[in-house]
Amino acid sequence: MPHYKVAIVGAGPAGYFTAQALQNSQSDDLIFSIDMFERLPTMWGLVRSGVAPDHPKIKTVAKVFEKIASDPNFRLFGNVEIGRDLDIEEMCPRYDAVVMCTGSSIGKKLGIPGEDLPGSLSAADFVPWYNGHPDYANVVVPLDGTTAVVIGAGNVAMDCARMLALDPSELDSTDTVQHALDAFHKSNVRKVHIVGRRGPEHAAFTSPELRELPKLEHTDVMISADVINAANTRASVGEIDKQLASNFEAFHLVAEKKPLGHPRSMEFHFLSTPKEIKGNGKVEEVIFGINEVKDGKVVDTGNIYSIKTSLVISAIGYESLPIPGISFMKGKIENEAGRVLGTNIYTVGWAKRGPSGVIGTNKSDASDVVKLLIEDLDPEPKQGGDITVVLPTSITVVDQSAWSKINAAEIAAGEAAGKPRIKEVSKVRLLEMGTK
Ligand code: NAP
Repeated sequence: MPHYKVAIVGAGPAGYFTAQALQNSQSDDLIFSIDMFERLPTMWGLVRSGVAPDHPKIKTVAKVFEKIASDPNFRLFGNVEIGRDLDIEEMCPRYDAVVMCTGSSIGKKLGIPGEDLPGSLSAADFVPWYNGHPDYANVVVPLDGTTAVVIGAGNVAMDCARMLALDPSELDSTDTVQHALDAFHKSNVRKVHIVGRRGPEHAAFTSPELRELPKLEHTDVMISADVINAANTRASVGEIDKQLASNFEAFHLVAEKKPLGHPRSMEFHFLSTPKEIKGNGKVEEVIFGINEVKDGKVVDTGNIYSIKTSLVISAIGYESLPIPGISFMKGKIENEAGRVLGTNIYTVGWAKRGPSGVIGTNKSDASDVVKLLIEDLDPEPKQGGDITVVLPTSITVVDQSAWSKINAAEIAAGEAAGKPRIKEVSKVRLLEMGTK
């Protein structure tokens, strides 16, 4: 009975769904042993460090991940970084396939003057900061000004704007990490502008996220009904697909809801390209170029406006962090349908296709790539020896039992405080928790 060994690098949704697809493909003639590697002592990738804390339902997929990990042929190697602790060249001969599920963690740059001023940061830093990612605990998020600007018309921009505009008491019962919760309680931000460079008809927001906005209890959300009507008219020239029609319905619901005079508000702006971030030693103002839609194309009118602010968050997409020994192109691992040609390396998730889709998208992505991986398997499994032989002994590996202890300790600490969990951010303490 051929028994193949597969390494999965990255314990996020793409990694776990790849493990699940491998497990589901097994038969009497095909068995997989799976080793999952993760550079952090904590698992679940974006489910832990990306999904907004006020969206706890999305995080329940972690139960599926833990079921996948409970298989006797699954081993976890947490706190092991490929490219630092193990080289890809050491892995490939020891596994029949190595699947890179390493995501994209670097925020794309706007490429405009003033972008690097203090007070201008990427969602790629802000989101893991409020979600307790150990590497982002010290990100400086100035919340002393009354106004914040979020650039981008996607769901990450929406998450960032909501986190800034919610009454912090609404986050008390969530798993927002304590340092961020304290900062949000002290925050002076009362007005959040969310700015897209094209029209509402081009926005990447999805309608469930838009539909939440009129229901916010302590935040007024403003979208100009005129702007939505004009976009709806423009879009109606062609055939509107179901998703866009649903977005328009949701935009109308937001536009029709009268502001209740809450001290906190969120306002949408469209057809505005960020041109420059200005300030003396720190962010003070963002200059936007005003666009219009002409013959279906978004063009610059040559006019500008500005918003005074001390905080700018750009949520305009992500790129992958390079990994030694792997070839990257345009922010992704160079691949063909998930195959890294000429190797036994594969890729799934954002590292493969770029930062698109929801968590569930990785399930079909993983299953497609696993089909190819199985097609490519040699008739005889590799006899390259176990990876533990080359794993440096100085590393404290977080195995499944250690991760279960960390997870249980966080949940227990949260129970006492009426939260789903209290996240630990110190790697040293996380490793200690894994041994208790
Ligand atoms: P996204 O959906 O691709 O949105 C990126 C936004 O940035 C677009 O509006 C894009 O505008 C804009 N943009 C790009 N370059 C820009 C520039 N130079 N200047 C101004 N704007 C610029 O990406 P995302 O928001 O990072 O989300 C990534 C994926 O995660 C998406 O699939 C998203 O749906 C998913 N996600 C889902 C949830 C959820 O389900 N609740 C939450 C978070 C994220 P153009 O369209 O004009 O390029």
